[in-house]
Amino acid sequence: MTNSKPESPAAQNQVAPSPAAAIPSNFLRDQIAEDVRTKKYGDAQIQTRFPPEPNGYLHIGHAKAICIDFGLADEFGGKTNLRFDDTNPGKEEQEYVDSIQADVRWLGFEWDRLCYASDYFGQLYEWAIQLIKAGKAYVDDLSADEIRQHRGTLTEPGTDSPYRDRTTEENLDLFTRMKAGEFPDGTRVLRAKIDMTSPNINMRDPVMYRILHATHQRTGDEWCIYPMYDYAHGQSDSLERVTHSMCTLEFTDHQPLYRWFIEQLGIFPTQQFEFDRLNLTYTLLSKRKLLQLVQEKRVNGWDDPRMPTLSGIRRRGFTPEALRAFVAASGVSRTNGSTDIEMLEHYQRDDLNRRASRAMVALRPLKLVIDNYPDGQEEFFEVANNPEDPSAGARQVPFSRELYIEQEDFRETPPPRYHRLSLGKEVRLRNAYFVTAQRVVKDAAGNIVEVHCSYDPATRGGDAPDGRKVKSTIHWVSAAHAIEAEIRLYDKLFTKADPYDLEEGQDVLDNLNPNSIEIVTSARLEPSLANAQMGEHLQFERVGYFCLDTDSTPANLVFNRTLPLKDSWARIEKTTSGGAAAR
Ligand code: ATP
Ligand code: MG
Repeated sequence: MTNSKPESPAAQNQVAPSPAAAIPSNFLRDQIAEDVRTKKYGDAQIQTRFPPEPNGYLHIGHAKAICIDFGLADEFGGKTNLRFDDTNPGKEEQEYVDSIQADVRWLGFEWDRLCYASDYFGQLYEWAIQLIKAGKAYVDDLSADEIRQHRGTLTEPGTDSPYRDRTTEENLDLFTRMKAGEFPDGTRVLRAKIDMTSPNINMRDPVMYRILHATHQRTGDEWCIYPMYDYAHGQSDSLERVTHSMCTLEFTDHQPLYRWFIEQLGIFPTQQFEFDRLNLTYTLLSKRKLLQLVQEKRVNGWDDPRMPTLSGIRRRGFTPEALRAFVAASGVSRTNGSTDIEMLEHYQRDDLNRRASRAMVALRPLKLVIDNYPDGQEEFFEVANNPEDPSAGARQVPFSRELYIEQEDFRETPPPRYHRLSLGKEVRLRNAYFVTAQRVVKDAAGNIVEVHCSYDPATRGGDAPDGRKVKSTIHWVSAAHAIEAEIRLYDKLFTKADPYDLEEGQDVLDNLNPNSIEIVTSARLEPSLANAQMGEHLQFERVGYFCLDTDSTPANLVFNRTLPLKDSWARIEKTTSGGAAAR
């Protein structure tokens, strides 16, 4: 008998809300406001909880639930518990408990009480005894398979187990012996006695306890029977006097069961409200599937910067501010849909544009030699660290006769409308001088290895005194001063907008993007980047947003590309006014 929660539905493609549009009305907020107004809970505070199962790392979908649970409680002066739903020993680990706490705090929230469903194992057991005594629960000897066969289907009612009418005495005896460890795993379960013909399958005598001789990460070997999630969850909420228990839509059909237990036991009536799961295009948001990626080494751990886990995107350079803004803008609804990943990226760029320090880096360098610049001379340009933020100060950027520019910023034979450097063309070197390309040097294979140019000393600082204009400004790095680093460029982890769009016999992992990471080792960086700090956000001008990776050391710098500069969301929004997954 496995203790599984409802599976999340695979992503369906629907139109994502536009960030420009007003934030959709939030029925959860309206509900709480109404309950506060009518004093539904008297003078008691609003109480919510975030109830992760510690069987994996949190992902972007959980960020939505966290923002709702903590955010709404905060808005109404209430409190939020962080509760680990740890009813599955064997699948759950302390590593996950620790990472979940770190992630919630990173997102910017602090819990009131730290709770565990396992704190309530004793109380849940007492309540099970109470239900048995009331004739509302029975021990069933059917196997898991037989229980499934008896359960019926959506269209056919279930049938009663032959053990359903055991006496209270017999049930009490067997259940206490289950607890005492007399029976092997899977031989018996405790079931609620509700209605095998209920149209709601969850009400057809659901399993409350199964036998599992497993060591629990917190309770050790104290228990060999464990409550099912559906038996533990509602009562845990009730015990914590949770007023508003908010969860995703797949739990809607479980709500009558949670209410049934609460009514039978006559305990605090927590109310449940369901909202839509966050699904993102090109992304898997399921701990089970993400675990598979980790276990099969398709990625380098839970915090691989390509992972949609909070630890992954944090390492990649995403910020809690951007994530919260994205979650707020993507709204809350009662139907599941799919949101364009570009919308998340748009919010992230918007945030980074404001906070990132600028620097110049030639990702794929091409030597540029200024023939008329004095050999051995160097000078420094003072450059603003962030034009969006004067308080970020300025730095000195060295300049000399030999520079590196980006390979793609030079064309020997320029295509139409190519305004960057080409033979005979003049461009601006950012913050420095105008240069005009004169000739190229090629290697034996015919590759351009150097571009020679001349500069106009009168254009120092980047403007011509005679008012002549150039059509392009390119970035550069002084060759003699440049430093080297490993730069990791990331692309989407999946090739399909809906990773579950599969051919017959395929697995979702068949849609993994084989080119989701590219490692660049030849880049040349301006020397100030040797002082980049862990956690600092950078914009490599004209290239993208970057940050130091946790693999970085002073001797071997490693940068992650958080995102390229180009913002395709703005375009999507313009062309579809709301952004279906058009690309
Ligand atoms: P997964 O399917 O990834 O394992 P889960 O729902 O099983 O997710 P839990 O640990 O139970 O994971 O999640 C804790 C809370 O987060 C639940 O209330 C759940 O409804 C919510 N949640 C999980 N995934 C999402 C999502 N994609 N969007 C919004 N909320 C989510
Ligand atoms: Mg799950």
